[in-house]
Amino acid sequence: MSDAGYDHATVERRWQEAWDEADVYRTPDDVEDPTYVLGMYPYPSGKLHMGHVRNYTITDAYARFRRMQGDDVLHPMGWDAFGLPAENAAKERDTNPRDWTFDCIETMTDQMESMGFGYDWDREITTCTPDYYQWNQWLFSRFYEEDLVERRDAEVNWCPHCETVLADEQVEGEAELCWRCDTPVEQRELEQWFLRITEYADDLLEAIDDLEGWPNSVRQMQRNWIGRQYGAEVDFEVSEAPRASSGRGEGSEPREYGPVTAFTTRIDTIHGATFFALAPDHPISEELAEEDEEIRRFIEEEADPDGDEPNGVETGLTATNPATGEEIPVYVADFVLSDVGTGALMAVPAHDERDHAFAEKNGIEIRPVVAPDPDDGEEPTVPDVEDEAFTEDGVLIDSGEYSGLESESARERLTADIEGAAEATQYQLRDWGISRQRYWGTPIPVVHCDDCGPVMVPEADLPVELPEFINTTGNPLDAAEEWKQTTCPDCGGEATRETDTMDTFVDSSWYFLRYVSPDLEDAPFDLERANDWMPVDQYVGGIEHAVMHLLYSRFFTKVLADHEGLDHREPFTNLLAQGMVQLEGEKMSKSKGNVVSPQRIVEEYGADTARLFMMQAAQPERDFDWSEEGVQSTYAFLERLQGMVEEYAAETPDGDDDAIASYVDAEIDATVAIATAEYDDLTFNKALRETQDLVRTLRQYVDYTEPHAETYERGLSAVVRLLAPVAPHIAEELHETLGDDGFVAEAEWPTAEIDRDRVEKRRQLVENTREDIRDIVEVAGIEDPTGIEVVVAPDWKYDALEIAIESDADNLIGELMSESHIREQGDAAADYGQDLQVEREALSMTLGPDEEHAALESAAWLIEREFDAPVDVVHAVDADEGTLANAEPGRPAIEIDD
Ligand SMILES: [Zn+2]
Ligand SMILES: [Zn+2]
Repeated sequence: MSDAGYDHATVERRWQEAWDEADVYRTPDDVEDPTYVLGMYPYPSGKLHMGHVRNYTITDAYARFRRMQGDDVLHPMGWDAFGLPAENAAKERDTNPRDWTFDCIETMTDQMESMGFGYDWDREITTCTPDYYQWNQWLFSRFYEEDLVERRDAEVNWCPHCETVLADEQVEGEAELCWRCDTPVEQRELEQWFLRITEYADDLLEAIDDLEGWPNSVRQMQRNWIGRQYGAEVDFEVSEAPRASSGRGEGSEPREYGPVTAFTTRIDTIHGATFFALAPDHPISEELAEEDEEIRRFIEEEADPDGDEPNGVETGLTATNPATGEEIPVYVADFVLSDVGTGALMAVPAHDERDHAFAEKNGIEIRPVVAPDPDDGEEPTVPDVEDEAFTEDGVLIDSGEYSGLESESARERLTADIEGAAEATQYQLRDWGISRQRYWGTPIPVVHCDDCGPVMVPEADLPVELPEFINTTGNPLDAAEEWKQTTCPDCGGEATRETDTMDTFVDSSWYFLRYVSPDLEDAPFDLERANDWMPVDQYVGGIEHAVMHLLYSRFFTKVLADHEGLDHREPFTNLLAQGMVQLEGEKMSKSKGNVVSPQRIVEEYGADTARLFMMQAAQPERDFDWSEEGVQSTYAFLERLQGMVEEYAAETPDGDDDAIASYVDAEIDATVAIATAEYDDLTFNKALRETQDLVRTLRQYVDYTEPHAETYERGLSAVVRLLAPVAPHIAEELHETLGDDGFVAEAEWPTAEIDRDRVEKRRQLVENTREDIRDIVEVAGIEDPTGIEVVVAPDWKYDALEIAIESDADNLIGELMSESHIREQGDAAADYGQDLQVEREALSMTLGPDEEHAALESAAWLIEREFDAPVDVVHAVDADEGTLANAEPGRPAIEIDD
């Protein structure tokens, strides 16, 4: 790039070394309650991509802002280092996951340093080291002691390509594809270790209400994921229908299957239940499939729980409706899920859309038993449910003694009255299966003994370290014969180790606690310090973690609060989910070949340009398009700024402290006030727009006149500090050029005397006034103005405006006229009162007359420059009456001579 003034490579390297040397980003153990700023740690894939750069620039900029505001800051980084890609990469490259992972970490560390991210590297954690993963094992044992671990046979999602079990959350979309490789997922039955997150379902759900610093979208996704529903469980007697007993000799009794429990949220519709449905893997379905070819074929071949239409097969069984005694047909249906509710349901086609679709397809009766609430005193009208179910609550009809009841009270009564019915709560949330049949993860610390069963490895024997990598298509630890053989901790007999490893989401469920005391040898974290330093004040990462990582982290935090003395029940106070960096409206991806490499950008333009471009392009939550022109103009901006600072440093100007200087001074205050508020909200794009506007003002100032040195330097220094969180290297360089001591990274944040509201009013006033002058010049066709007079409104109009805003009287004019100093104005007061009356709803308070005068006077030079004519800002008392009539608060009168 340009070799003119801005040698970004040299500048950036120089300051990275200087920060490192001075330990600028180190957080000593003894600081009290630092501001904890954290980006979601990356998977060490070997390459930092634009998503990482955006994520970590956001945290870095915020951490730097807080540090300059005087906070102690904790801003650590680490590696989510276990996981399948390392294993696959190792196979491809004929190496092992450990070497591959550490190579990647080294590369990415360099890339992060070249971006200027200010991390406390002394706190770095790497989850694939025994130092770290022993605590996964320790936590697993603690969870086990608290009865939060369970081993059970389970139908699991199995990816045949990755040869591993997947959590529900790792199965994507309607087509049920593996989240890593997009292979269709299959079902398998395996003994699995589960963490009993469902024990915390209510706690996790209810606490969401208090997570006010989280985006609503993420809170809602967690609520839906937990999916609590209140309803009732109700028993239906299921038996073979007498007419269906063919095939087994004459006179044999119909077979009884006993009561089958169904869960429903709408027991008020039970009189309209016209069929009963079982999940394909319900024990009765499985039993029937053994004898009945049609049912077997349906279960094995046709059933598709994610299909658009509900499918099913008749069983020849009947279920007795406990409310009516009626026998209704039983189907095996694919829309009934065994892991939701009870795997059986009463179907009410008139009041449920899916049941309706199924009934239409299979010619089952659709019987309405709830009608819309009628108007007072009128009879309910039977809803038309032929084409569509009526799914809302209403009034019961055709429901025997319950007819006429509102749905809600009917639910209470029916639940109480029906034998075998009881209130029940159902959740979508499942226990968290953490068993993975892979090598590159934390070994589950269990030993299997023929006599004692599964036994926890005692704490003294932790960590259970991984053996050397075995390249196999099956479960690698199962193939590690020597490693597998051990002795039982309980009886001393021969035993084998558990060969599953943990889901890597275990690692990330508590890593934010490890940063507090990364080298601690006798506990996962220093409790006292964690109590002081936690929770994370600002967490930043991708929306794809809205459910898994963010829910598991909350779960671990709650368990640690209940059982390990942690004082915090939530890990992250504020959460920001950053948007995507796109190229021409599309997500960057290797497969589409539309990837912009951060490394190239850093080499060509420097890290500061990349960071500044990204942060000014859009609000952090929004997606935005990468633009090479945007990058170039950002680079040019930094280069110009450097030129301005160098010119100033080379020769101090000698201008007067005049009205222009006071305007510039006010603009500096204004910029600082607004930018600070925007930084505080993490709306960096707005803060940076203000900062760039100030640079433009300073440029105009120096172009227009010889600047007042102190004011001009104050402006440059403010700009440098306001840019420092986002463009830290060049900010250090310019800070030094301005002769300021120490690092800008540790300098004080600039302060302003003025608040944001007044700033905005001043600016609006000046902007409106300039606009009005342009209009007049244009409309009157003035080619060469010789003088411009700007007249501020008289004091009484400001009083009248204030009265109009505060008054709620119908007769505003009357109220105004009761003030003698307004009444004295006669017709003028009546006219202005009329205007106020008309715009009453939209009125807002302006600055006072003196402040408006001052604001306009300090901006007069801008107007003079634009119209090339002298400007006179006049108080009302010095103006002639004709002009004065047009002056209003916030809108001075204007006279132009030509
Ligand atoms: Zn897969
Ligand atoms: Zn034993």
